[in-house]
Amino acid sequence: MKTQVAIIGAGPSGLLLGQLLYQNGIGNVILERKSGEYVLSRIRAGVLEHTTVQGLEKAGAAERMHKEGLVYTGVELLFNDQHVRIDFEKEVGKNVVVYGQTEVTRDLMDARPATGGVTVYEADNVALHDIDTAAPYVTYTKDGEAHRLDCGFIAGCDGFHGVSRQSIPADVLKSYERVYPFGWLGLLSDTPPVSDELIYAKHDNGFVLCSQRSTTRSRYYLQVPLADKVEDWSDERFWQN
Ligand SMILES: Cc1cc2nc3c(=O)[nH]c(=O)nc-3n(C[C@H](O)[C@H](O)[C@H](O)COP(=O)(O)OP(=O)(O)OC[C@H]3O[C@@H](n4cnc5c(N)ncnc54)[C@H](O)[C@@H]3O)c2cc1C
Repeated sequence: MKTQVAIIGAGPSGLLLGQLLYQNGIGNVILERKSGEYVLSRIRAGVLEHTTVQGLEKAGAAERMHKEGLVYTGVELLFNDQHVRIDFEKEVGKNVVVYGQTEVTRDLMDARPATGGVTVYEADNVALHDIDTAAPYVTYTKDGEAHRLDCGFIAGCDGFHGVSRQSIPADVLKSYERVYPFGWLGLLSDTPPVSDELIYAKHDNGFVLCSQRSTTRSRYYLQVPLADKVEDWSDERFWQN
């Protein structure tokens, strides 16, 4: 197979890139290690910043988000008992939209067939070759059969643990990261959110985020020690904190 851009990973980045390339007349093939159902079932983001919303609009995949997403014009900051509200619309004329990453992914997946772009799900053993030449290629196996994808460019959209990052030679790779000495414990709960808007709170017990996915589903995060395991946190302990 041959294409202009080989995209590794069919998460939101890979799918969005595929869509934007298509709109600019650039052919692409996406190779994804997991099945489409698996990718869709991965619960992650829910708060879409203004630039993300604009990206989805540009990609022509924003219609359902605008219909079903919840628009927030501000956010609450809480310092122990002191409330400070930041009014995004008043300050910068922008807002954020609460719309699940699974839904973003679904919309981008649904938009892809119209582009004629190929997505190969369950592509195993993806490997990048000759990446420092003008004729790179990617190899992979699908249903036990070996394949080769020739291309002009490879876009590594397969996340921190993906194969693309590992393929960059150590003397060329530059990492920019900030490592925080604590962990995040996230909980998705079928309960109405505690507030109409998101709350970012600094508390003596640590940092807390009260986020949400809809008017009936909440997403909460607690700052926890890095060594903590999920099993250390019973429902009771979580809600008490
Ligand atoms: C708990 C949590 C909450 C978050 N909340 C928010 C939020 O509210 N707002 C926000 O903006 N962001 C949030 N984020 C961040 C957001 O989820 C990520 O930025 C987003 O998933 C990145 O998308 P991506 O497509 O780059 O990577 P991913 O979604 O990780 O997709 C990478 C894809 O590459 C595939 N892949 C990996 N290795 C290979 C391989 N070797 N071969 C082929 N395919 C491979 C994976 O299966 C995956 O489908 C959150 C993240 C987490 C974990």
